[in-house]
Amino acid sequence: MKAQTTQSWKAAAAAVRWNIQPLIDGKRRSSQSELDYDNVNPATEEILCRYKVGTSADIEDAVKSARQAFEDGRWSEMPPGRRAEVLTKWADLIIQHKAEIGLLDSLEVGKPIKVAIYDAETLAAPHLKQWAGFANKLLGSAAPLDSKTLTFNTYEPRGVIGAITPWNFPSLNVVYKVGPALAAGNTMVLKPSELSPSSALRMAELALEAGLPEGVLNVVPGLGSTVGAALAAHRDINLLSFTGSTATGQKLAEAAARKSLKPLLLECGGKSPQIVFADVDNLDAVADATVNWVLWNQGQVCSAHTRLIVQDAIKEALLEKVVTRAAQRVPGDPLDESTTFGPLAGPDQRKRVKGYIERGLEAGAVPVLKGTVQEEGGCYVSATIFDKVTETMSIVQEEIFGPVLCVQSFKTEEEAIRLANGTEYGLAATAWTRDLGRAKRLAHTIRAAAVFIKTSGTEGPDSGCMLSYEPQKASGYGSEVGLRGLESYSTLKWVTMGGS
Ligand code: ADP
Repeated sequence: MKAQTTQSWKAAAAAVRWNIQPLIDGKRRSSQSELDYDNVNPATEEILCRYKVGTSADIEDAVKSARQAFEDGRWSEMPPGRRAEVLTKWADLIIQHKAEIGLLDSLEVGKPIKVAIYDAETLAAPHLKQWAGFANKLLGSAAPLDSKTLTFNTYEPRGVIGAITPWNFPSLNVVYKVGPALAAGNTMVLKPSELSPSSALRMAELALEAGLPEGVLNVVPGLGSTVGAALAAHRDINLLSFTGSTATGQKLAEAAARKSLKPLLLECGGKSPQIVFADVDNLDAVADATVNWVLWNQGQVCSAHTRLIVQDAIKEALLEKVVTRAAQRVPGDPLDESTTFGPLAGPDQRKRVKGYIERGLEAGAVPVLKGTVQEEGGCYVSATIFDKVTETMSIVQEEIFGPVLCVQSFKTEEEAIRLANGTEYGLAATAWTRDLGRAKRLAHTIRAAAVFIKTSGTEGPDSGCMLSYEPQKASGYGSEVGLRGLESYSTLKWVTMGGS
């Protein structure tokens, strides 16, 4: 893509024609709500547009459309190979429209424009293609019996899937839910975050262009407390898939159990550790990775590695390198292509992160790097690094969802494992060591959905291919990545055919 100036991105931003209306049965239509929601650009705190907050009546219409589309088989009865073709074409259209999608995400949640485009092109589209490739590989199994009886397991789509997504990776989050659910033959109602509905709506239009039949993917923008809650409580949703905070996940689990006993896939919060043993031989590589992991997306990542757990002997040397690097990440204008670190996603996020920094200071943690918080005209918050933290501090235990790193130190492997496992979360963990035996022990004993063992800083290219994982503890349950994702969005049936 040709480089563009900030001025030309600003001109493109001014030319956006905002259309945040539900997409139901293949068409945009007005929401039935009376109230407006201010869609705010966190880089300036100016209002981009106002849109209707949505109602349970919008959800009702969307679920009806998805149910009709499921029952008449326009998608579920399509041969899986053909479904794969549609999804692959959709992924190609996402790549073609990456600048448009990236700009919407950048304006709504403050992602640096180059990063937002990268997310659409290099994360969302390849992941969608991976799920498309799995569409015709969801194989059942048959059991040996006598010659008159055939008994087998077969996967069938569950029906209508409800999906609720957060704002931190708007385009990727759409694909994470829609990719495996549609590849498995379901129809859907998607509620994107109220902060970032536009790329989801635009991507759903591109899906229609790619050949997805109308009514298969319905998108209803609106608030969590009304539209999201209506979706979670709806009796005609066969599975609810959610990514967001643990607190909301708990509410959804309650609503789902009370109203219809629908199954859930929950990917919730995290407080992931970066564990570093003294046998590593390249502290610069560790420091680079530490800063990249905690400041990725301004720290607004559920798997952000927000706890650096480092062996005593190398702690001071590593910390110095980490602080130097983090201090260089000055937040910048998201529409400047050289910006890699933008504002937080909105005023609520800023307030939340600021509150945690204050609580850390009150509790006696020592800020070896103290971030600045811009109070108006943009939600810019730079990195804070806390040393001398204790295990019980809220900054160590709770998900901050911002650029804040806590540093803990250890003497022995047992102590490192105890600290790593010492929160209620279990999403991701990275351990640096050159000792193979220890690497295996860590991979086994760390309670997380994904454990990365590293010996050096060299990263492979992003392949857009991920194996499956399942969140542990308060991070959620169920699996939607990889082939396992299609299994989660399917129901397993046992069929026995007997007689002569
Ligand atoms: P975050 O703090 O990251 O915004 P949330 O869990 O609040 O995380 O939001 C993630 C998604 O869940 C958003 O789409 C939001 O609108 C939705 N949501 C929030 N509260 C509820 C709720 N009570 N019921 C259903 N959805 C909700």
